[in-house]
Amino acid sequence: MRSEELFKRAAEHIPGGVNSPVRAYGAIGIAPRFIKRADGCHIYDVDENEYIDYICSWGPMILGHNHPEIRKAVIEAAENGLSFGCATEIEVEMAEFICSRIPHIDMIRMVNSGTEAVMSALRVARGFTGRNKIIKFAGCYHGHTDSMLVSAGSGVMTSGVPDSAGVPAGCAEDTLIARYNDLGSVEAFFKANPENVAAVIVEPVGANMGLVPPCEGFLEGLRRLCDENGALLIFDEVITGFRLSFGGAAEYFGIKPDLVTYGKIIGAGMPVGAYGGRLDVMKKVAPVGPVYQAGTLSGNPVAMAAGLTQLKILADNPKIYEDLNEKSSTFFEEAKKVLREAGLPYHLNHIGSLGCIFFTPEEVKDYESAKTADTEAFRSYFKYMLQRGIHMAPSQFEAMFISAAHDDAALEETLAVMKEYFSSCCSR
Ligand SMILES: *Cc1c(COP(=O)(O)O)cnc(C)c1O
Repeated sequence: MRSEELFKRAAEHIPGGVNSPVRAYGAIGIAPRFIKRADGCHIYDVDENEYIDYICSWGPMILGHNHPEIRKAVIEAAENGLSFGCATEIEVEMAEFICSRIPHIDMIRMVNSGTEAVMSALRVARGFTGRNKIIKFAGCYHGHTDSMLVSAGSGVMTSGVPDSAGVPAGCAEDTLIARYNDLGSVEAFFKANPENVAAVIVEPVGANMGLVPPCEGFLEGLRRLCDENGALLIFDEVITGFRLSFGGAAEYFGIKPDLVTYGKIIGAGMPVGAYGGRLDVMKKVAPVGPVYQAGTLSGNPVAMAAGLTQLKILADNPKIYEDLNEKSSTFFEEAKKVLREAGLPYHLNHIGSLGCIFFTPEEVKDYESAKTADTEAFRSYFKYMLQRGIHMAPSQFEAMFISAAHDDAALEETLAVMKEYFSSCCSR
């Protein structure tokens, strides 16, 4: 198998053989599939195996892989040169396009990744409020910036301890880890740190601990607590932005955050992130304000061409969201039925085009309950699905991404393979 060979070669010169840890099949114990090309909802590895893909580049490919209009826009932009390090017209178009369609975004700054977007938004929140502390939630991922690499696990009411070597305790000291879907844990931090919380940052739908939607009233409660305490509310919409709806989770749930971070879909597969929001807050950003943030390749013309083309298709065809959310809901409800009929007590969470089967009898509403999942059971399921041509993230704690290109045939085939697996696995 060429994937096996490549993985051996890769491991010699790239740490763990991958450029991002989520790509390694570490939890699975086999070589990751090396991908050669992709089209629509299908992805092909170097051995020419075809899979129905539920990673979709971790979200960016909401219209399916290798979309002809986006490809064309990229090729045309590339013909004019790859980067100038100077201001360009398409950056203005991108900013105008987003600000005119998303009511809570008055101003936006392009960066190169979701990590950078979060790092910058936190700096702006601190610069704007003159405060240091940030409340984040256990199980929410906000990229690999030092202060966010803390999840605290069971120590819900304690200050953060870094999850990664190389993060000084000082970097995590100002990060307070609350419990997802638990307003009481947030309120307690506000009480214990009067006038010192700059912002609450949250994935409005937890999509990095499997898939955990917000409970009724949770996001509203965060908005209220931030208002009462003079803190900013930051929605990390790197996954949910332009996915649940064009205006992301904010529009979907009708909550107005002060700052929003984007990534993934906004670049259509090119390395793009962005942060934006309230005018008075964004006016703190250099060169107009005192908060420094920069980027040699930020707003890159080829990346902007890809991202803007995708956003235009999404904004001009609201039916895309209607269809995508509807067919996804049907798919996940059918998958639930498969589990039920097989007599398995597992839980499936889903919202919009995101979902996750948790291999646990517990209802999953936060990091603690997510961690009750049986990762061995996931591993066996994952391997079976992969062998039968279904390509999913190699971890229990990642969501399935459905795109507009997943047609009935692909979704039905996936359900059939699930059924085959689950109806046999409980007899073992
Ligand atoms: C992926 C992700 C990030 C980090 O984005 P990168 O582009 O990988 O740096 C941040 N926040 C959330 C919610 C994400 O899912």
